[in-house]
Amino acid sequence: MVRRGEFALIETLFAPLTRGDSRALGLADDAAVLGTEGLGDLVVSVDGLVSGVHFLPDDPPGTIAAKCLRVNLSDMAAMGAKPVAAFLSACLSPTLDDRWLEAFTEGLRADLQTYSFSLLGGDTTSTPGPASFSITILGSVAPGAALRRSGARMGDDLWVSGTVGDGALGLRVLQGPLFGLPEVHRMHLIDRYRKPQPRVALGLMLSGGTEEKSGRLATACMDISDGLLADAAHVAKASDVALEIWAPDLPLSEAAADLVADDPTLFDLVLGGGDDYELLFTAPPENREAILAAGQGTDTLVTRLGRVVEGAGARILDIDGVEIALAKPGWSHDG
Ligand code: ADP
Ligand code: MG
Repeated sequence: MVRRGEFALIETLFAPLTRGDSRALGLADDAAVLGTEGLGDLVVSVDGLVSGVHFLPDDPPGTIAAKCLRVNLSDMAAMGAKPVAAFLSACLSPTLDDRWLEAFTEGLRADLQTYSFSLLGGDTTSTPGPASFSITILGSVAPGAALRRSGARMGDDLWVSGTVGDGALGLRVLQGPLFGLPEVHRMHLIDRYRKPQPRVALGLMLSGGTEEKSGRLATACMDISDGLLADAAHVAKASDVALEIWAPDLPLSEAAADLVADDPTLFDLVLGGGDDYELLFTAPPENREAILAAGQGTDTLVTRLGRVVEGAGARILDIDGVEIALAKPGWSHDG
């Protein structure tokens, strides 16, 4: 196995990811220098992936890179911020060779191009243990406009982007075959698990974005990573309200709908499995038209699936308004 040294790695693989952004100083100095003028409020977050915990050692390196970046982009989307820069901390295990690292960098390059921002720095170390990658992301939003979990108000609608449950079902599919699942559905679910679609453009519309005068559409927002029901409970708690979710209105992909129809116990995974990286948000009813237009304008499915009511916690109701009890209401970080 061949692996170039740390400095060659930075120069040949990581430096091109600055995409000509002069603030990176070509990754040839000790740090990046960012002027702050016009950046508004800076929104900053960090999220990492550990081999054997968040990805499997033989997962395709490009998708590991993409997922590492996208979970961070999803946090920017949840805050309604525009991505400005990324910093990568790479902790490399001895088994990762040049070819692996080239494929990893290619995954990053493609996504940085798609989302139009750059890698401005990072850190490279080696470890005898499992590899890990951590990305720090910087975003920008008009002063005071960042979307919070705490803004939901009585009478607001509850909305979600995309379809729910695909990520958790994708992981389930990777763990063992599901009887009678067509190949195209299998591929769809695995792709949704490996490559989340961060809803950055929609998030920007919901916050009003980086323009100081444009209006915000959502009152509260977060991205679903622990499961719809658990994350809805987070919004409810932060906002001191209760959330009601209507099961018949849940947006499911064809693959997920077929699986649940065959085996209703998989419904628990759809609601509680996590790894959705969709936006869950609240908004007053007078914004319905504007939200549907924002969905159309950003090519994102948006679905009204519940409402904000008095009380505490999040409940999922069936077609008769009766609460559905789940065996496992959410993914916990203890595992
Ligand atoms: P240290 O201070 O830890 O010795 P260096 O001085 O070697 O780090 O880093 C040199 C430059 O390379 C810095 O601009 C740093 O941000 C950049 N860099 C190092 N590792 C990475 C990486 N994995 N991704 C992006 N940039 C990196
Ligand atoms: Mg240094």
